[in-house]
Amino acid sequence: MIPFNKPYFHGSELVHITEALTSGKISGDGYFTKKCHDFFEHRYGFKKVLLTTSCTDALEMAAILIDIQPFDEVIAPSYTFVSTVNAFALRGAKIVFADSCDDHPNIDPAQIEKLITPNTKAIVVVHYAGVACDMDSIMEIANRFNIPVVEDAAQAIDSFYNGVPLGSIGTFGTFSFHETKNIIAGEGGMLVINDDRYINRAEIIREKGTNRTSFFRGEVAKYGWVDIGSSFLPSDIIAAFLFAQLQNIEKIQTKRKAIWQRYYERLSTALVESDISLPNMPAYATNNAHMFYLVCKTLEQRTSLISYLKGLSVNVVFHYLSLHNSQFYIDNYDGDALIYSDNYSDCLVRLPMFYELELEQVDFICDKIIEYIVDIDI
Ligand SMILES: *Cc1c(COP(=O)(O)O)cnc(C)c1O
Repeated sequence: MIPFNKPYFHGSELVHITEALTSGKISGDGYFTKKCHDFFEHRYGFKKVLLTTSCTDALEMAAILIDIQPFDEVIAPSYTFVSTVNAFALRGAKIVFADSCDDHPNIDPAQIEKLITPNTKAIVVVHYAGVACDMDSIMEIANRFNIPVVEDAAQAIDSFYNGVPLGSIGTFGTFSFHETKNIIAGEGGMLVINDDRYINRAEIIREKGTNRTSFFRGEVAKYGWVDIGSSFLPSDIIAAFLFAQLQNIEKIQTKRKAIWQRYYERLSTALVESDISLPNMPAYATNNAHMFYLVCKTLEQRTSLISYLKGLSVNVVFHYLSLHNSQFYIDNYDGDALIYSDNYSDCLVRLPMFYELELEQVDFICDKIIEYIVDIDI
């Protein structure tokens, strides 16, 4: 059986965790949290980063920092994970969905502009599969209307838009270290703050609404309740695990990219004559090999391909169900039909993609897909 995903452990995670335990301090913002923060600020030049317990929490922090109020409108893609918008729905926002591009699951900037009203308080974009959205167009619209942008970069670690790291372009970026991502900590996340004005308040919100972070820096004599907030910081045990992964990011990314490239090389010529398409990579985007997917012509074709591969013990899976068609959205809002989002919901299929996947296994999966296409052509 070839699984769809298998979390990768380097081995040094345990060494770091033991070190954290022997240090006697395992609550948040300890030695390893600082190591992770330094890593991101140095490697990607992020202005300010804060580890969180999940990407969902980082998104919730962004919604609080933007000061989302009931009935404010937030524009987001429908083809995404529920957390992208739930963080804003929690604050009472009205979620307004924009469609995907015709040639990519990412949000279509032309759709965003049409949805802006005087009540629009945030634009949330998702770099699907770690491939950048059209950020110049998105930032041009956002700046013209003076609306903050949140990049849900959950899948986009180590990926770039015209050479600029994803997560550093909008007002905020949010990352995930869930075990299904490239770099993992079991559960974990990070908020990137690209605008100085939000840094101080972000530290407070993350520390239960207190100024404890500045107290520990010696900036205030005692700390107390200064704002709303919650407990968004992870234990240093999580950070110890994460730091081991970060130290191996080059190795992990090189292997994942080799797997992705092998899929692409094997399938690109074979699929040319078929009605199944390969991922489209815009010239401005890098590929961080988070995901390898195919887009079938119809739902029936996808169902048949999935069951064919499952019959050969290859676990391939579909992805998001458009959020504008969810029970929660239909019960609470009304929105337009979004044809491209629906198309990816019906037709996109993800192939196995994880560090330990062998190139021989990739070849096997590709051979079977090619045989499947030849068979249905006859
Ligand atoms: C994984 C993911 C999330 C959620 O990340 P968690 O760390 O599990 O909260 C949010 N958005 C997108 C696009 C994701 O892929």
